[in-house]
Amino acid sequence: MLVLKFGGTSVANPAAIRQLISILQDKGTSKPKVVVVSAMSKVTDLLISLYQKAAVQDPTYLELLLQLEQKHLQAIVELVPMSQQIDIMGRVKMIFRELEDVCRGIYLLDELSDSTKARVMAYGERLSSAIVSVAFQHHGLPNTLVDSRDYIVTDATFLNAKVNLKKTYQNMQVLPKADLLVAPGFIARSSEGKTTVLGRGGSDFTASLFAAGLQADLLEIWSDVDGMYTTDPRKAAAAFSIEELSYEEAMELAYFGAKVLYPPTIAPLVAAKIPLVLKNTFNPGHKGTLISHAPVPTSQVVKGISCIDQIAVLTLSGSGMVGVPGVAMRMFKALALESINIYFITQSSSEQSITVGLAEAEGQKAVQAVNQEFADDIAQELVNPISLEVPMSIVALVGNGMIQQPGIAGKAFSLLGEHKINIRAIAQGATERIISVVLRTEDAHKAVNLLHNRFFLTVPQKPEPALT
Ligand code: ADP
Ligand code: ASP
Ligand code: MG
Repeated sequence: MLVLKFGGTSVANPAAIRQLISILQDKGTSKPKVVVVSAMSKVTDLLISLYQKAAVQDPTYLELLLQLEQKHLQAIVELVPMSQQIDIMGRVKMIFRELEDVCRGIYLLDELSDSTKARVMAYGERLSSAIVSVAFQHHGLPNTLVDSRDYIVTDATFLNAKVNLKKTYQNMQVLPKADLLVAPGFIARSSEGKTTVLGRGGSDFTASLFAAGLQADLLEIWSDVDGMYTTDPRKAAAAFSIEELSYEEAMELAYFGAKVLYPPTIAPLVAAKIPLVLKNTFNPGHKGTLISHAPVPTSQVVKGISCIDQIAVLTLSGSGMVGVPGVAMRMFKALALESINIYFITQSSSEQSITVGLAEAEGQKAVQAVNQEFADDIAQELVNPISLEVPMSIVALVGNGMIQQPGIAGKAFSLLGEHKINIRAIAQGATERIISVVLRTEDAHKAVNLLHNRFFLTVPQKPEPALT
């Protein structure tokens, strides 16, 4: 069994879909396959604008709806022989009338719940999968279209739904037995039967759920780059594709910003040791990046550098915190109650301050929550008013080779110091597989490039002798 996921750019237009068809044709028919597709490029963003416009009674939402409909109908015109278009055209038009009704509801009722947002966002993948399935059919790739919502069960956190793995894997055992299944990514259903979505970029995760549920031999994720690069190719022109990574390395790089892979994707693959290959739809001859439990050892100590922007750094400090148990717990609880995700935590050894990194968009909400929790302590001047620094970025060096390898952090810090880049906080994961630094966003681009040059473009590093 092979599971293949094609992202938004891989189904962006008829030319891209033809490319996808030729990749599938080249694979032959020896193995059963599941193809998971994202919405056509930009469509999810347009669907979000659509409900936003409708919610503020902006009637131009109708123009946007028309534009979306044209885009999908045009793809059918170019991919399906004229005599065969009626059925799929009819289905797509019906889906658009349904979407129009939902939008009219939002427009008239002035009400926009997360459930409705998820429902609207789900149309992108519903449409693309229907069109890809029909296009396959007419290019010698008979297939069965399934609706991932019938198999992937989640909670009712509509926009970032948490998957019930047990039920999902059980459901997947009764998928139709076909040599080629086509399924929409991103979308799922709550146990109450409402449409949910798996978070932005979540189609990668859908594919890994299919791979784990069906015990696939391999998962291939196809996008528009030659795999996972040493760093974000948009930030450093010298970035290049990494040949192999361990699951843990890939997960850390993804978590700290390597957008090519949605971070939760790896977890379902680990237990079953299913390898994952990241490939380029527009350069299929390139080997891409192989992610597995046992990558071939390399002398490269740092495998990749990730960067996340739009981070806020929140600091809780005060002499009244020293030796008082439970301060950190109270702070994290206050943040957790607001569902705020924390990217890193550092505590000074004197216990006088705790610093956490979180998304900039949640900064004010976090300050309010922590201020409220410590209101009495602040009034008694035991704790200082919470400080928030923006705009900040996290730059992370990742590599299994850093484990037990002295000197890497030192090299990174002195390099940044030499270039007058101020490091606001440092965190090293307990596994030593990752070192992350927090700095001002205006320095992040330069820092990524300096570190990339230092660790990838100088003479290949030999493991340094351990200090004795
Ligand atoms: P898809 O739509 O196929 O899911 P994405 O846009 O989600 O593709 O991810 C691919 C993009 O991720 C690339 O075009 C690239 O700009 C960006 N990217 C960021 N960091 C990295 C990295 N380390 N390696 C490769 N691509 C990266
Ligand atoms: N279409 C969704 C998004 O844009 C899911 C995905 O592409 O992976 O976030
Ligand atoms: Mg993606």
